[in-house]
Amino acid sequence: MKKIQMVDLQGQYQGIKEEVRASIDHILETSAYINGPEVHAFQKDLEAYLGVKHVIPCANGTDALQIAMMGLGLRPGDEVITADFTFAATVEVIALLQLTPVLVDVDPDTFNIDVAAIERAITPKTKAIVPVHLFGQCANMDAIMALAKEHDLFVVEDNAQAIGAKYLSANGQKHMAGTMGHVGATSFFPSKNLGAYGDGGALFTNDDDLAHTLRGMVNHGMYQRYHHDVVGVNSRLDSIQAAVLRAKLPRLDAYCEARRNAARQYSRAFAGQGHIMVPKTVNGCEGICDTCDCHVFHQYTLRITNGKRDALVQHLQERDIPCGVYYPIPLHRQKAYADARYDEKDFPVTNQLVAQVISLPMHTELDQEQLDHIVDTLVAFVNG
Ligand SMILES: *Cc1c(COP(=O)(O)O)cnc(C)c1O
Repeated sequence: MKKIQMVDLQGQYQGIKEEVRASIDHILETSAYINGPEVHAFQKDLEAYLGVKHVIPCANGTDALQIAMMGLGLRPGDEVITADFTFAATVEVIALLQLTPVLVDVDPDTFNIDVAAIERAITPKTKAIVPVHLFGQCANMDAIMALAKEHDLFVVEDNAQAIGAKYLSANGQKHMAGTMGHVGATSFFPSKNLGAYGDGGALFTNDDDLAHTLRGMVNHGMYQRYHHDVVGVNSRLDSIQAAVLRAKLPRLDAYCEARRNAARQYSRAFAGQGHIMVPKTVNGCEGICDTCDCHVFHQYTLRITNGKRDALVQHLQERDIPCGVYYPIPLHRQKAYADARYDEKDFPVTNQLVAQVISLPMHTELDQEQLDHIVDTLVAFVNG
């Protein structure tokens, strides 16, 4: 059996090697390293793929989130509601901009932000909601957009884990993840579903004025060379990363399907195993539906409900099966973000999830023998 990797980028590389090498050579020959034609071409390709009017490439996903909040004109003291169960980047940029992060609990089935908890957290100071499309599926955007409209709030989608995912609205319309809010932010970190060979990120919006603002902000607030109209940042995508991303983008749907296929196999194998809860998708098909394309499984995350999660992590590691715990500490209990405002009683779900979740190897190159081995080892231990 091939060695099991948590994320296997080698197999993917072999499939695009010639293309990527030729583009990188071309960039080296022309020396257009930053914001060159390759970056512009990638921007256009991604706009077409997402069906969104504007893509603004930038240096990484964390910057994308920060620039989104700057572009919306959020001011120190404004409250921004986001999920307690996510990667810290989301709350980090809120804090950096001296906005007030308001962390709320998540849904136990989808791990995504709990809409009722958002509603309870809204105050006259609330200016924005940042739903995180965690592990590869969208938060409940119908309800979030309705709340935002009712209370006149901005919605910034943290789409770092869900590029390529779709969201089925109650009205039957399908939307690409990251294109429903006022602005979407994504990451091209190498292990993300659309990963560069270094850092990268992008913002998406359908708002022409906001797009204009953001385009200047990523480049020192310059709208005209050496005229600085607003305080910006230096956050640009480099051409070599754009070349890698351009080669991968036409294959993204196939990559997502390969991940879904692995997820279906996992979920079928774990179905009915007492102490193992498989991830649920929003339309309830538990990741085993053959036609569903709403989840892109950035992570395949189980809940182990009999208290054996930590022992399982050790057991798998000892047997060379990599796994991860995303995330082991809720943000409201992180040293940097803890605050007397928070009450443990408001976080029953995240407090439970941090003790139960385990993410299994998930990438485009998993084969049947590896999947069977992971499933057999895990089930024998949890139910043993
Ligand atoms: C990866 C990630 C980010 C940050 O992206 P970087 O490109 O690493 O800066 C933000 N939010 C979430 C949910 C992420 O998973």
